[in-house]
Amino acid sequence: MNKPAEATDRFDAVVVGAGFSGLYMLYRLRRLGLSVKVFDSADDVGGTWYWNRYPGARCDIPTTDYTYSFDPELEKEWTWSEKYATQPEILDYLRFVADRYGLRADIEFATSVASAHWDEQERRWSITTDRGTRLRCRYYIMASGCLSMPKSLDIKGTERFAGEVYFTSRWPHEGVDFTGQRVAVIGTGSSGIQAIPLIARQASQLTVFQRTPNFSVPAHNGPAPAGRLTRLAQDRDEYRDAARWSPGGVPVEPTDVLGVTASESVARERFEDAWKAGQLFSILGVFADQGVNPKSNGIVAEMIREKIRSIVHDPRTADALCPTDHYFGTKRPCLDTGYFETYNLPHVRLVDLRRQPITSITEDGIDTADESFGFDAIVYATGFDAMTGAVAAVDVTGRDGLSLTEKWAAGPSTYLGLMTAGFPNFFMITGPGSPSVLSNMAVSIEQHVDWVADCLKDMRTEGFETIEPTPLAESGWDQHVRDCGAITLHPTANSWYMGANVPGKPRVFLPYIGGVAVYRQACDDVVARDYLGFRRTGPGGERCLDGVIRRMQPDVSLVLQLMAKLGLPPMETLSADEARAMMGAAAATRPPSPEVGEVTDGLMPGPAGDLPYRLYRPPSAGPHPVVVYFHGGGWVLGDLDSDDPLCRDLCVRSDTVIVSVNYRHSPEARFPAAADDAFAALRWTASHAAELGGIPGQVAVAGWSAGGNIAAVACQRARDAGGPRVSGQLLISPVTDSDMTRPSYAENGDGYVLTTPLMHWFWDYYADPADRGDPRAAPLRGNLDGLPPACVVTADFDPLRDEGLAYADALEASGAQVRRVRARGHTHTSVTMVGVVISGAPVRAEIAEALRNFFPSAP
Ligand SMILES: Cc1cc2nc3c(=O)[nH]c(=O)nc-3n(C[C@H](O)[C@H](O)[C@H](O)COP(=O)(O)OP(=O)(O)OC[C@H]3O[C@@H](n4cnc5c(N)ncnc54)[C@H](O)[C@@H]3O)c2cc1C
Repeated sequence: MNKPAEATDRFDAVVVGAGFSGLYMLYRLRRLGLSVKVFDSADDVGGTWYWNRYPGARCDIPTTDYTYSFDPELEKEWTWSEKYATQPEILDYLRFVADRYGLRADIEFATSVASAHWDEQERRWSITTDRGTRLRCRYYIMASGCLSMPKSLDIKGTERFAGEVYFTSRWPHEGVDFTGQRVAVIGTGSSGIQAIPLIARQASQLTVFQRTPNFSVPAHNGPAPAGRLTRLAQDRDEYRDAARWSPGGVPVEPTDVLGVTASESVARERFEDAWKAGQLFSILGVFADQGVNPKSNGIVAEMIREKIRSIVHDPRTADALCPTDHYFGTKRPCLDTGYFETYNLPHVRLVDLRRQPITSITEDGIDTADESFGFDAIVYATGFDAMTGAVAAVDVTGRDGLSLTEKWAAGPSTYLGLMTAGFPNFFMITGPGSPSVLSNMAVSIEQHVDWVADCLKDMRTEGFETIEPTPLAESGWDQHVRDCGAITLHPTANSWYMGANVPGKPRVFLPYIGGVAVYRQACDDVVARDYLGFRRTGPGGERCLDGVIRRMQPDVSLVLQLMAKLGLPPMETLSADEARAMMGAAAATRPPSPEVGEVTDGLMPGPAGDLPYRLYRPPSAGPHPVVVYFHGGGWVLGDLDSDDPLCRDLCVRSDTVIVSVNYRHSPEARFPAAADDAFAALRWTASHAAELGGIPGQVAVAGWSAGGNIAAVACQRARDAGGPRVSGQLLISPVTDSDMTRPSYAENGDGYVLTTPLMHWFWDYYADPADRGDPRAAPLRGNLDGLPPACVVTADFDPLRDEGLAYADALEASGAQVRRVRARGHTHTSVTMVGVVISGAPVRAEIAEALRNFFPSAP
């Protein structure tokens, strides 16, 4: 057996935890030739599967997938008996793994790591345990589990109960016989839902106390699915690789069916198939948009509620079991075997704590607001302090005495969920900010362990002793994790993913929801870019390429990937008419645009004939301020339809009348036709404001891209002409200059939809080189004195970014009020993609607020 560590012991690495993560970490580190000590407070290996021995405990990812894949020989030697293996079988497996690789020799059981302090001079961690052991190590690795720290009880009187008390997360090894007993179960998360049907088989009375009903679908457990086994048998490597590069760590065929557009019959069929499949990723993937779109999510949620109502006989109980306070999937959904059916048994009762809260646990039972219950046993299935609980339970102190709990007081901050700045050589396996609990954890654990082991190997090869993320890289990753969460429905739920189950825990979305494959790619990219965002030091000096690995909004990159897959020809290789047809075809595939109060089309006089316009009136009672809007399209493309979703969105959000004007285009009408039309449209609208339902004197201009260009020009011309008075100018990613040498062209001129060659194509169609310095083509070169307040929107991945910023600077220098809106992580086009790019919505909200503020009566 293992020898307890001595005070003087030094190891290359200390690993906390001997579950799935710790065992594999030990295996990999040993193969690197490192000396390793593993601690676990348990008496044996297994982690989750050592502690959670409650009746019915099983995995809810098919066991064919919830398994190590690092050694094909190991895979040959172990065959799972069921689709979802039981806790004893998974524990046996982990024991088998420990024995097969002789891992126990380096593990000290029944020992908790109490503190870990970084010693800057020695460049080592100093570790202490609850047994008083002190030792030193170069690398400190917490493989301490995302769901290993049981949540403290927050119910009054728990200490008073004289009967038997059990926690699902600390179940007695010898098992429990509830025969003939009156049993209470508190909690209906995954553990409660698995345990309740089995406890009901023994107990004479079972009362379930439910705070929040949970979505659960039948596991349909049985033999491992034949299709999956065949795939594995045919090509195990291919299958495992597909899992590693899948969204959730299990190979699934992703759907592109949207709930918002699916017919009722398609929706029903897809749902029933998923219900029959009995797999989390099936029911979570009925529709491609159910995780982000409330309507689509509602379809799946309602179908599950229908199922619950059809299973549970008593309508009141059924009603109480139907979740209505969160979107499906925003709390961990459960897989069950006969859970809802259990409530049809005469000796089982559900107490809905939202109607009948617990007032206290008593000596012999539980008191609620209106009833006293007597029990022989209480089972707490109250969950975990997830993702950060076990890490924060150790007194971890980094450089300069920085404590981890202090650093994380407002929520965890990590780089890739692997490390945190200020704590050199401190690694977390499936830490916050990684896919972890949203994925098949076996796959995520292996990926993290491999990354850490490879990193240590690289450090040794390159002569480094320490590694640590930079604050810039870390805050960039935190932002990306938040951005990914923000486009989903997850932040709306009071879930343990959000830390909401633990009183006082900061509300932040803890895991990374971008997907296992996307995440893996980010980790690989960091390494490929010479450990971007990590500072590595050693006797030979330090190396650090600082930067942020993912700056683009996640849904924007998704759109770019989808567009790339379409393989469309570059626009600049087409004629103007071909390009217009391509744009029109793309517009036809857009989701429905936002509803407005009224839309009317009309004609207004222009310098060379009538100009079509479309007027959008908000639903509220008028009159409203009026905004004359000019679409984008490089003076060549675009029309009243092209920017229709954006106009509707602006109209509703800003509560203004939007008059979208279809000006003349190039090459049919070259410079300065578009600019002339814009000024004429402004004049006409201003003088007809009242007729249009607007407030006379409250007229602003707005435009996107080339539309922003002519909007800016119209303001300059109105000033020169002594009117009309313009309340403000909203310039969304405007063209303000014909100089294409600014850095944003070099950075973003290729790969982000609007490219440098396309801008050349636009300019060539629009204006002769001799005219391109004319302020009516390049408003940045004009006189900017006395111009109305402006809102200038610039996007990070836009070649036009810098000329937008230059215009904002120049306006400000000339005394105009300027509000700058940065479309962080967006391209030239993405903010305008209403209903497609969800992350554009907050930017448009900011733009609309700026627009409203142009007008004096604005709130
Ligand atoms: C009931 C249940 C069912 C689950 N089912 C699934 C599933 O089907 N699919 C899935 O992907 N995931 C599932 N999970 C998540 C599961 O936790 C992971 O899949 C996986 O087992 C985690 O392995 P780990 O080694 O990272 O952590 P754990 O298995 O939690 O092991 C961590 C170990 O660290 C020890 N430890 C912590 N702090 C200290 C300390 N300070 N000192 C010493 N030791 C310490 C703990 O005692 C524990 O043994 C489930 C979780 C639970 C609770």
